[in-house]
Amino acid sequence: MDHSTLRNRTAECPGDAPGERAPTASRPGVLPAPTLQTLPVAVTANVARIRARTQSMIMAVVKAGGYGHGAVTVARAAVAAGAGWLGTTSVAEASVLRAAGLSVPILTWLHPSGIDAEAAAAAGVDVAVGSPDELDALLAQPSPPVRVHLHLDTGMSRGGCPRERWDDLIDLARRGQEAGRIRVAGLMGHLPLADRADPEANAPAVAAMQLARQTVQAAGLGSPLTHLASTSGALTDPATHFDMVRVGAGLVGIDPSGTVAMHGASRLTAPIVHTTAVPAGTPVGYDGTYVTGRTTHLSVLPVGYADGIPRECSPEAGVEVRGRRFPVAGRVSMDQIVIDTGAASFPVGTSATVFGPGGGAVPSVHDWARWAGTIPHTIVSGIGPRVTRSIA
Ligand SMILES: *Cc1c(COP(=O)(O)O)cnc(C)c1O
Repeated sequence: MDHSTLRNRTAECPGDAPGERAPTASRPGVLPAPTLQTLPVAVTANVARIRARTQSMIMAVVKAGGYGHGAVTVARAAVAAGAGWLGTTSVAEASVLRAAGLSVPILTWLHPSGIDAEAAAAAGVDVAVGSPDELDALLAQPSPPVRVHLHLDTGMSRGGCPRERWDDLIDLARRGQEAGRIRVAGLMGHLPLADRADPEANAPAVAAMQLARQTVQAAGLGSPLTHLASTSGALTDPATHFDMVRVGAGLVGIDPSGTVAMHGASRLTAPIVHTTAVPAGTPVGYDGTYVTGRTTHLSVLPVGYADGIPRECSPEAGVEVRGRRFPVAGRVSMDQIVIDTGAASFPVGTSATVFGPGGGAVPSVHDWARWAGTIPHTIVSGIGPRVTRSIA
């Protein structure tokens, strides 16, 4: 059980301690809870797939609770499979990993509450700084020395130091290092166009990163660990790899470039809680957007948009029950969905798979993303705190 992250995820549901509603419940009348199961073996296989495409070190990015899969669970599997670094967006997230016993280097960026230098030093966590102001604020704090990665904008215009201020940032970093306050340990950029799987599209960012490295070297800061690519660059463009690739989506089975088949790393199941037979012409759910075309059976699953099932999805949306795909009938409600199972009548308690790996009738997170007109990341990171977590 990934208790440390679960505690965060279930914070709004006091009394809903993880594991208390185990999916194996077998008391009469007690159904297995809707459960998101993480599959660490898939993470292991995905790291191997990335490893086969790069000589560089791999940072496992486990922000947003390991893209909804449990940060500690994903981090442990990735490190065991050879990831040498971990990445998160805040020192607080990194501290959860440290508390779970993960001892590899960790880099944090974004820092939604600013950089707490004391906390970073105490947790032994590297921090990315993306502007002279941010570095100033760090240097102003009386703390033990902090390891810093200079985050330079390589075309994203979303954080990272803009080109015209590189010299200021690098100069400030050099002075901070000379004063013993920081150690410049890394150099970071981000690829804006890597999902196109087109080396030509990445070339300007690669050139910017090379220039940044030369500039830092010329300033006397040596050769810090240089990293630019995330999953799509790691899988499709070796020129972007530098010393390390930062892989998040790929760990949980998502290749944003759409060119490499990865292993889905989670399975969302829910029990049928109600089944009914209805005649043709029966409207289902809010606004009666779905009307049965024949005598059929309807079953209710206790997961809805409050649990991360997209409300806006196409009529193709469906779930798997006993090896067959059945369509979602009518609107997704806050707490439930209805499926139309035709001639099949499933008893209450029958397990349905909303998504999972394995193909066949089981929808993937990619299917849900297509049905909802979004990317798979939003599906996996959006599963709500009421859903029980487990680890395969
Ligand atoms: C999220 C993130 C990554 C990981 O990106 P994926 O496409 O999920 O692999 C890498 N670097 C930064 C700065 C990020 O914010």
